[in-house]
This record gives sequence, C-alpha cells and structure tokens, in this order.
Amino acid sequence: MRTDDPQGPGDARPGPPRGRQKAWGGPALSGDDPPGPGDAHPQRWRGALALVAALGLAAGFSAPAAAFTVFACEPEWAALTRVLLPQARLHVATHARQDPHHIEARPALIAQLRSADLAVCTGAGLEEGWLPMLQQRAGNPRVQEGAPGLLLAAEQVKLIDARPGQLRQPFAGDIHPEGNPHVHADPHRLLEVARALARRLAQLEPAEAAAIDGRFNAFERDWRRRIADWERRAAPLKGRAVVVQHASFAYLWNWLGLRPLADLEPKPGLAPSPGHLQSLLTTLRAQPSQAVPAVVAVVVAQHQDARAGRWLVDQLGTALPLLQLPATVTDEAAADALGRWYEQLLQALLSSVPPGPGPASPAAGPAASNPGR
Ligand SMILES: [Zn+2]
Repeated sequence: MRTDDPQGPGDARPGPPRGRQKAWGGPALSGDDPPGPGDAHPQRWRGALALVAALGLAAGFSAPAAAFTVFACEPEWAALTRVLLPQARLHVATHARQDPHHIEARPALIAQLRSADLAVCTGAGLEEGWLPMLQQRAGNPRVQEGAPGLLLAAEQVKLIDARPGQLRQPFAGDIHPEGNPHVHADPHRLLEVARALARRLAQLEPAEAAAIDGRFNAFERDWRRRIADWERRAAPLKGRAVVVQHASFAYLWNWLGLRPLADLEPKPGLAPSPGHLQSLLTTLRAQPSQAVPAVVAVVVAQHQDARAGRWLVDQLGTALPLLQLPATVTDEAAADALGRWYEQLLQALLSSVPPGPGPASPAAGPAASNPGR
C-alpha cells in the first residue's frame, strides 16, 4: 500500500505523487510535473497537456481534453463505458481469449489501475485471483473496496446459482459461492449494470452528467428494442438443451430458455477429466432417443481448451455441433461491440437448431407451442 499519495484539501480525486512518471516508465520531461498517461487531475492536465502536445508526445491521446480514466477488468465493461463516456481513457485488463478468472497481475496492469479514476469489474469472486493484488500494489485510494471509484457489476444485479456455505479454496476451481458472476451474458442484467455505471460516471464526472444521462437513455431505448428482437428470434431455442463447459454462459441459457444438460467440468473451474467425460457420454447415450437431438450444441468458450468438447461430439456421433463462442466482446472498441456479441451468440445457436418441430418434451416451453418455427 502506498502512503505517498497526496490528498490536498477538497481534492476529491487526488493526483498522483509528483515525479511519478518515472514509476510507469514514461518520458522524464523537464518542467513542472508533466502528467503520466493516467494523471487524472483535470486542472493539472489542461496546462500539462498543452506541454505534452507541444512536445509532440500526444500521439497516444485520443481525447486529450478528457482525462477521466477507467480501468475495466473485462472487455464488456470497457464496451459499456465507451457507450456512456466515449471520451474516457480506457484500460482493459483482459480480452476475449483470456480466462478472466486467471490472469497475471502484470506491472503494466498495476500502473494502469494506479492511474484510474474508476475501476469497473465484475466482482462476486471472478477476479479474486488478481484484482486484490492489483489494488494493493497500485495503492490508488480511488479504486479500493468501498470507494466510489470501484464499481462491481455483480453487486448491481441479482445473481443466479449462489452456493452458500461453499468455501473457496485455492486450486479447488472457480466455485463462485456468492452466485454466478458472468452476468454480462444476460442483456437485461447488462442494462441494469449500464444504469448503475451511468450513475457512477455522472457522480465522479459531474460536468458530464447530463451527457451521460442522455447517452444512457438512448442506449436503454435501443437495447430494449433489440432485446425484444432477440427474444422473438430466439424462440426456436426455448426448451432445448446445451452441453457446456463451465457456467460462463449460464445467464444466456436462462435468458433464452436453454437447459444446460451437462457440464464438461467435473467441478466448476476444474478441467474436464477422462473419467468425468466417460460418465457424461454414458449419461447422454442413455437419454431417450429424442433427448440428444434436443441438445442444440456442445458449447465451449473461446478461451477454453476445446478438446474435451471435440471428443464428446465425436463419440456421440450425432452431428451435434461444437460451438466455440467468445465469452465476451471480441473488440471492445468497435462500434456496437455488445450488440454484435449478442448477435454472434444468437446466430451461432440458431444455426445449430435442427430443422423441424422443437423438442417433444412437455418441459419444452414456448417453443413447443410454436411447432414448425
Ligand atoms: Zn466462472
């Protein structure tokens, strides 16, 4: 924990200590206190930025007038931040090909968190293997537990699959006792996180409050319209099943009315084992003949090893597709990144539905009342 962060009187967002640019390895400029890339103090920024620009060092600054810096633990929260405060300076700790449960607390991430005015993370234990260490080493009081500069998405919505009484143990997998943290795969919950994020951004950046509010309202209108469209198109999925690997998409299944019939992981967060896969195969083969066709696909996330899923579809030999889907947006900086990700998921799942009537099971839900769709 750093103790040298100055906190001037009435300074809600203390600037970093002077001379700190050496800590992140930036250019050692002469003159009074040139900003590090994350220097968040607006007054100091304005003068200092002119200096930086004059020195031709502003190439990396896409929006130099707005120094508000956001550290997003996952790309979905970066994408949401871009919707609400496009001029924010953004650092994203993980990408779609990484497992957000397990990343290395690299020095670059520590420096990025040190500069952040706001950290937007998932919480509910998702980042417990690396975020506390980053927070401690960054020593940035703005983003510590309980500070307004830390927004945890899982605290803004109701979680599914809480396992009270389950203790997390190192190397025992990703149990998620507080409930499933992968909330961004439900567009309704995503909207609630967007609402909370808009409020928090407005609180921390009051000069932008009206603009943030306007952008949130536009996003909400558009998002609700799209949810309705997705739900209408997803009707053929209702009552069908998927074989999964980890609960990364559990909220998506809930939303679409898909049933996760089996999990390739023997325990949450533990890699598929030969014994577990063999027993899954036996179970799936023992299903009534119409049950396996009701399974739409074996779904693994892009950051996971697909070999176990591949083995299972090969063994089943029922032309069941193996879908490798990104567990988050693949390009958070792209326009409409979140909408495109949902589109991608939905289209992959719909393309896996065999033609003909939906599953015959009485538990099939609305799809059964729409035969032939
Ligand atoms: Zn998980």
